[in-house]
Amino acid sequence: KAERERLPRWMKSPLPKGESYLKVKRLIADHHLNTICTSGNCPNKGECWNAGTASFMILGDKCTRNCRFCYVQNDVPEPVDWFEPLRLAKTIQTLGLKHCVITSVTRDDLADGGAEFWATTIRKIKELNPETTIETLIPDLNAQPEHLQKVIDAAPDVISHNMETVRRLTPKVRSTARYDRSLQVISMISAAGIVSKSGIMVGLGETESEVLQTMDDLRSAGCKVLTIGQYLQPDSNLLPVQEYITPETFEKYRTEGMKRGFSYVESSPLVRSSYHAERHVKG
Ligand code: SF4
Ligand code: SF4
Repeated sequence: KAERERLPRWMKSPLPKGESYLKVKRLIADHHLNTICTSGNCPNKGECWNAGTASFMILGDKCTRNCRFCYVQNDVPEPVDWFEPLRLAKTIQTLGLKHCVITSVTRDDLADGGAEFWATTIRKIKELNPETTIETLIPDLNAQPEHLQKVIDAAPDVISHNMETVRRLTPKVRSTARYDRSLQVISMISAAGIVSKSGIMVGLGETESEVLQTMDDLRSAGCKVLTIGQYLQPDSNLLPVQEYITPETFEKYRTEGMKRGFSYVESSPLVRSSYHAERHVKG
């Protein structure tokens, strides 16, 4: 609560409550699913779950990487649960979602980085929810074309991979990930004709020109959709916030992004990769 009171006024978000919120919470618990909403300590949980939507996280809740901004636990992951795709597909059916967002932890312990599991999950969701559009926020799969191809072949509507930050700050903010490798992932998605999307956090000490350069790099990789949101320190062991970016600067970034040819830019303090995701599904 104290943390909430310290935030600038534009960072306040609705508190979790209500019937829809409880329904989402119960279903997730009953089906033993994980969400990045909870695992990432997302400030929008109140708004999204109250509206009956969530962003599901597959392949467990333990990540083999340890990014300095991320609340997801870094630990040895559990064995892969091949019944999870069916439970997830059924949950999406029960919630009646028109659009779903799926993400995962990074599984560098698996030979294919979890690509086959991703493909199985997408197919199972389609089988039970033929009208639902699917957005997948994938890890970099070490930019291995054959692994990425498995996800592409399962044909989700949008494939997203986050840059998270500008080039200079990447080694400090992300663990193992490389700026150019992430761009390569975006290029491969775009070349396959699937809507590609990426996201960055601001307030980590980047300059405005570095943000604009990241936009240029993403556009060169064919990226269509961009999200920009304020970084919030989810835990005192993680990187501190360097700056609260004003709503005016977020609006400037949105305009600059649109000028550069993105078909959709969502840029405001509380934006997360999966925030209002249904709005730009057609890229
Ligand atoms: Fe979950 Fe995304 Fe909403 Fe955050 S913005 S609560 S991660 S759906
Ligand atoms: Fe978090 Fe980094 Fe793991 Fe992704 S790869 S879940 S950002 S620790």
